[in-house]
Order: sequence, then structure tokens, then C-alpha cells
Amino acid sequence: MAEGQHTIEPGDMVNKDSMTSTRTTPIAFHIMAKPTGSACNLRCEYCFFQKKEKLYPKSNFRMSEDVHEAYIKQLFDAHQVPQVTVAWQGGEPTLMGLDFFRHSVQLQKKYAKPGTLVENTFQTNGILLDDEWCRFFHENNFLVGLSLDGPKELHDTYRKDKGGRGTFDRVMRAAQQLRNHKVEFNILCAVNRKNADYPLEVYRFFRDELGVKYIQFIPVVERDNESGFQEGSTVTDRSVQPDQWGDFLIRIFDDWIRKDVGQMFVLNFDGALAGWLGRAGTVCIFGPTCGMGMALEHNGDLYSCDHFVEPNYSLGNILKTPMIELVASGKQRKFGQDKRDALPQYCLNCEFIHICNGECPKNRFVETPYGEQGLNYLCEGYKAFFGHADRPMKIMAGLLQRGRLAEEVMTLMKTKERGGKNVSAKPGRNEPCFCGSGLKFKKCHGKYE
Ligand code: SF4
Ligand code: SF4
Repeated sequence: MAEGQHTIEPGDMVNKDSMTSTRTTPIAFHIMAKPTGSACNLRCEYCFFQKKEKLYPKSNFRMSEDVHEAYIKQLFDAHQVPQVTVAWQGGEPTLMGLDFFRHSVQLQKKYAKPGTLVENTFQTNGILLDDEWCRFFHENNFLVGLSLDGPKELHDTYRKDKGGRGTFDRVMRAAQQLRNHKVEFNILCAVNRKNADYPLEVYRFFRDELGVKYIQFIPVVERDNESGFQEGSTVTDRSVQPDQWGDFLIRIFDDWIRKDVGQMFVLNFDGALAGWLGRAGTVCIFGPTCGMGMALEHNGDLYSCDHFVEPNYSLGNILKTPMIELVASGKQRKFGQDKRDALPQYCLNCEFIHICNGECPKNRFVETPYGEQGLNYLCEGYKAFFGHADRPMKIMAGLLQRGRLAEEVMTLMKTKERGGKNVSAKPGRNEPCFCGSGLKFKKCHGKYE
């Protein structure tokens, strides 16, 4: 991302909006730093970030010492909470070389307030990882996100090097090295027109062959324009189609809900479940508002979001204006609140609005069936997924709300299915509740319907 679609990188899908206090100055926020700007050693075909190099025509795309120190100092100065995440992304951050990050750890030690828990996250394509990098990650507790789109044929479709060669074997070698050095890593999978047709192959590959436990799926929604900005309403033929996206999530969900709850962590499902728990927004895309996750370019320019690195969304430069002023600016607050204020009536009337909140503004560029602008391109897929997952999600939410474990849902699913009942079917009001409480449905989960 420039690893594919990166709404998120490790640590990014936290509730950026809930980090705010009721004051206008946030007590915490999230910055995704791009020390190499858009520079990358690969040429993934769906990458939306490479076109951003046009923003900085004469740049060497390397974060200077001044910007680096200002970033770390201002980040710690601004945070009024005991945990701070330092997030690195690209382009490809390994192009900065390991010494840059060694130095960064020193700067973090220098500027962190006493007692602060510091977490570094690092999104990479894996190509340059070797023993030295992995040893460093392990010693400094970096959480690494590795970009991988599934088994070889699917991964190599779009994730290519500058010579047009697939990168699967090199990424797998990186995964092995991370494992050898006991580095905590998760998988970021960009779901595109090709791999979206193979949901179970992709999911089971990550689970069974790669042995990872944390996965996030990012839908590739790539606008078909030369600018690389969020404009126009047509998408490239690499972009996932809305119904494909819904089907992809549904088929993986059906596998996960029967076997893997509590064992495999799919951020898309966890983020949606939060909506059923009445806490939508543990991932920024499903929050009612956003605006607390910004992107820092290599030269110190701060933008409203990683997906809006374009002139209209520039907030200023941290060498000229303190970061906290940019984060707390009216312009940025408006950006975050527009997510809620610009919803079309179609979303406001939707039965899943409390879970979806219209998803990410970057994908809102199609018309509703009634001709109103601003509907999410992926809406059809999300509606299908939320409708399909509704019953099991309610069961899990009910279990968690009563202090039980979400994984108990798997037993309930099996019991229902052995009895020839589909767990998605709603029980009668006087039948036992699907959650296994022993209460009548009307006295248990039926109360919430
Ligand atoms: S625009 Fe908002 S919802 Fe979308 S990725 Fe950025 S912060 Fe998240
Ligand atoms: S599912 Fe569709 S209509 Fe409902 S809130 Fe999401 S984008 Fe809007």
C-alpha cells in the first residue's frame, strides 16, 4: 500500500474517534507515518499510493532528521494517555534502512513521558526483511503487518515487482523469518476482483498453511482516474465488486463461525460485532464519525487520512504548526463529522446503520436507488453480509454481554444444525432463546428485536 488498500495497518483499526475527549483538543489520536512517502520497491497493480508521488515532484522521498524528531516529539507531547502507537507505513518503510528505525526507538525513549507504553506498528511488503530486521522487530516489540493476498496464483496476480514478477515466494520467506524470530505479525489481504472469487482458499491458506491468527481483509476499491485522488465514480476492473465483497465475507464468516471463533481474529468480523454490541467504531470505517487517524508524509505534511493524501485535505506541516493544532483544527473536525453529516437518507433508513454507519467516506461515490448521491459503492455487499451474520452476531453479542465467551456460539450453531434448524432462523417468541440461556426467546434476545 501503498500496500493495496490500506484503511488499516496494524494498530490502525482502533477506534480513532473514541480517542477524543469532549474537549476540542483530542487527548489521543493516530498518525500513520510514511517515511518514504509513496516510494516503494514493488509495483502492485492496484496500489493507490504510487500516483501520490506527483504531489512531491522533486522529492527524494526520505524523511529528514528534522521531520523525524519533530514527529516523535510532537506525538508524545500531544498524547495525554499512557499508551502511544507509532505507526509506520508506506510506500515501503523498509526502504529507509534499519538505522532510521534504530534511531527512532532512541527518539521515542527520549521523548516518551515516564511510564508511557509505546507500541510500534510496521506495515511492509516483506521483500527486504532479513534476520537483522526481524531481530530488531523482536527486540523492540514491533507489531508487523505483512501484505499477502492469498495462495501463490492469487497473490501474484497483482502484487508484482518492478520487473513484473510475482512476489509470493519472497513474501513467504519473509513470513518464515518473522516466525523464526518470534515477531508478532498479522496479515493484510487486499481483496480484489480476482481473489474475491476464492474466499475459502484465501482464508484457509492463511489459517492452515501460514498459521496466522490475525487477518484483516481490505476491499480494493480503486477509482479509475489518473490523479490517484478520490474523484470520479467508475472503478478499475481490478476492484472488487460489491456483491463479490459481500459473498467473500459471508463464505469466510460461515467457516469462521463454525470452527474458529476465539482462535482466529478477523478484524472485519470483530469490527462488525462491535456494532451489535452497541459500540460501533472499534474500527474507523464503521464508526459514526472519524477524523482521528491522519497520515504524515515524509516532509512533515499532515493529511486528514491516509486515503485522503491530496491537496484539499492537507492540514499543514508539523515543522511550521504544532501537530496538535493541526489535529484539533476546525478543518479536521469537519472532515470527521462529515462522515455522519453527509449520509444519504437511504443509509439513515437502513436497518444496519448502527453497525455500518455508511462505511468509509472514500467509498461513497454511487447513487442510492432514489438518485441521491453519496451511497457507499460496497453497500450491496455489506447489506448482504450484515443480514447473513445478524443472528450469529446477536448470539455472540448476547453471550459477551452476559460475561460469557463468544466462542460458545460454535456449540450453539452445532446444536441447532444437528436439530435440523438453521441458526439464522428466528425462534418463536415462546421457544428457548438461541443463545442457550434457557429463557424464552421473548424474555431474552427477543427483547431486543
Ligand atoms: S476516511 Fe475515516 S473511515 Fe475512512 S479510513 Fe479514513 S479515518 Fe477511516
Ligand atoms: S449497509 Fe448500505 S445503506 Fe446500510 S448503512 Fe451501510 S452503506 Fe448505508
